[in-house]
Amino acid sequence: MTYSGASFFETGQLVGVLTTQPLGRVLDYKAPEGGCHLGAFVEVPLGPRKVLGVVWGAGAGDYELSKVRSVIRVLDAAPMREELQAFIQKAADYTLTPLPAMLRLATRAPGLGDPPSMQKIYRLGEGRPDRDTEARRKVIAVLEEYGGLGFTLKEVSDMAGVTSSVVKGLVKQGVVREEDTPRDAPFPRLDPGRPGAELTEDQAVAAEALRAGLREGVFGTTLLRGVTGSGKTEVYLEAVAECIAQGRQALVLLPEIALTSEFLTRVQARFGVKPAEWHSGVTMTERRRIWKMVGQGQCQLVVGARSALFLPIQDLGLIVVDEEHDTSYKQEDGVLYNARDMAVLRGSLCSAQVVLASATPSLETWANAEAGKYRRLDLTSRFGPAVMPDLRAIDMRDERLASNAWVSPTLRAAVEARLARGEQSLLFLNRRGYAPVTICRACGHQVGCDHCDARMVEHRFLKRLVCHQCGETKPMPEACPACEVEGKLAAVGPGVERMAEEAVALFPQARVATLSSDMFGSARALKAQIEEIAAGGADIIVGTQLVAKGHNFPNLTLVGVIDADLGLQGSDLRAAERTFQLMRQVAGRAGRAEKAGVALLQTFQPEHPVIRAILTGDEEGFWRAEAGERQHAGVPPFGRMAGIILSSTDMQEAFDIGNALARNDAPIRAVGAQVFGPAPAPVARIRGRHRVRLLVKAPKGVALQGALAQWIAPVKGSTQFRLAVDIDPQSF
Ligand code: ADP
Ligand code: ZN
Repeated sequence: MTYSGASFFETGQLVGVLTTQPLGRVLDYKAPEGGCHLGAFVEVPLGPRKVLGVVWGAGAGDYELSKVRSVIRVLDAAPMREELQAFIQKAADYTLTPLPAMLRLATRAPGLGDPPSMQKIYRLGEGRPDRDTEARRKVIAVLEEYGGLGFTLKEVSDMAGVTSSVVKGLVKQGVVREEDTPRDAPFPRLDPGRPGAELTEDQAVAAEALRAGLREGVFGTTLLRGVTGSGKTEVYLEAVAECIAQGRQALVLLPEIALTSEFLTRVQARFGVKPAEWHSGVTMTERRRIWKMVGQGQCQLVVGARSALFLPIQDLGLIVVDEEHDTSYKQEDGVLYNARDMAVLRGSLCSAQVVLASATPSLETWANAEAGKYRRLDLTSRFGPAVMPDLRAIDMRDERLASNAWVSPTLRAAVEARLARGEQSLLFLNRRGYAPVTICRACGHQVGCDHCDARMVEHRFLKRLVCHQCGETKPMPEACPACEVEGKLAAVGPGVERMAEEAVALFPQARVATLSSDMFGSARALKAQIEEIAAGGADIIVGTQLVAKGHNFPNLTLVGVIDADLGLQGSDLRAAERTFQLMRQVAGRAGRAEKAGVALLQTFQPEHPVIRAILTGDEEGFWRAEAGERQHAGVPPFGRMAGIILSSTDMQEAFDIGNALARNDAPIRAVGAQVFGPAPAPVARIRGRHRVRLLVKAPKGVALQGALAQWIAPVKGSTQFRLAVDIDPQSF
């Protein structure tokens, strides 16, 4: 096959191939029989093995020609475009990640290079089963959930947790259809010509601005700001329509898998069919198909998690990052990158429009808009009759509470009024589990994790103690692990499960539902629960930040925040920003339909500037004040930060290496930057490894990465010691 545009290497010519092997680099090979394109996915010999690689450029010619081996074969996939190669290179340079590790993010295509062939896939048919069994119900539920998608026999039986004979049995009865289809079938076409909603004036102005950017076909970044329910999604779907009408492809990133199904339904309503869906919950068959189709430009719209940013999309014209402020866009394990920032980078390399949508943008994005780097479009009001809820503080210093109770009399009365009117209330507490602390009343011991520097959190629902840092769990002990006295372990403080218990006791006539990420085995179970609540299946919802994100409960008119001060403790300079965002998002859950909403914030410090800003909704004022403080401290977005995380099973070793780095900081000082620490990292111990952090603070505009690379170059990793660089850390 030939691919227009890409340069071509003739048989025997030297090419440089990058593989995904750890410590790998670009190595010379000879182009195989028939030649190969720049960017081609190839199989090359490496020692005794055959490994996957990408033709990264012309060979360097550093080796004696007779020693250079040949590419084994060119795989059946569109060559990686130069734009994506450049993106991988720049992302690696920016995050100081080894190039092979970065390439790995872009080659997560299962079955890459397998020949196309026919396969049997299974979908829901018309028939009804002769007998209703648990196993059969599971199969039907799985196929129903994914509507039009078809799955292989193994995938269906795995997802349903049944044997393949159950599926085959259903095929015989016509309940499930078996079809022969080519692997990697093209996606059904979205129809951008279908009419969208009739836009309000604000919305129409914003949509037209985005469309104009797309028509110009140059790179540009837009902050699309508007309270929850103001129609941001409606507006960026107009941009998607323009993009696919031009024959280019669009990518929409969402911060959480649980939000995708609602979004897929909206896309279907707007464009006639569902788009491709890319995240960890998608089957291998489907991921392989998407990966292949995007490379051929055959997939107009992908909605997905941050990893979708590395898909080899052929002609990417639009990238939307929805809820751009969300912290889950930062990958904190393995390759440390922020998908929001990387989206802007990728957009700049492929002349795409990048849309950052949020009701409560990050300070970084706000500052970029203020500085004129990003265009800013504002949607000023909620769509239709819905209005932003009335926000009020409950001053907890004036409230009488029984011991081990957290709902104030004022909040209780407000909930009772909603119950009397048949409306829903949300009690919000951003803490999973039953109680944050388990203490022994005999000796005062607090139960901690054996592997981390964290307390174990009691989860009554799971009947276990859970470490929220490393995920370690153990059964709730009968006796204190320290003094061995039995029956003295007590729960201290509230978690969301304990709040649910209190709600049931306070409002015995109400139906109470709990929404916390750990309570659902699967995204499907969570989605079912959310739908049931939205349909009126609960009177009171007790939830963690899971409910703050985008779900729509039309009958919800009261949000009660149990502890509005929770996020303000601690020394993190981003605490104010996070609390502000979270509180505004949660409050926005109330009154989304025609009923007016109220948000009540229980606080011990109603005069705190952040609480005041949340209550008055003076976002510009809040941002300006925050910006002033950050500017004064010289931290992002007005200065640059990087973390160096040193981890070892031996704490002393990590500190020793940290101290040695801090002493030898000449490369850092040379660019006018400063080193702080070493100090225990924000997460000081994970899975038995001690973590120590050095923080580097630099003025804006210095070549920080180069200085960092030079500084850490003498430090070598070992089996027990590791060094990781965290550019733009989340907490500082
Ligand atoms: P956001 O993304 O800002 O939260 P949405 O785009 O989800 O807002 O809009 C909120 C609700 O209002 C959705 O149900 C949406 O369909 C509806 N909506 C928004 N704008 C319009 C419009 N111009 N015409 C009809 N419905 C609209
Ligand atoms: Zn732990």
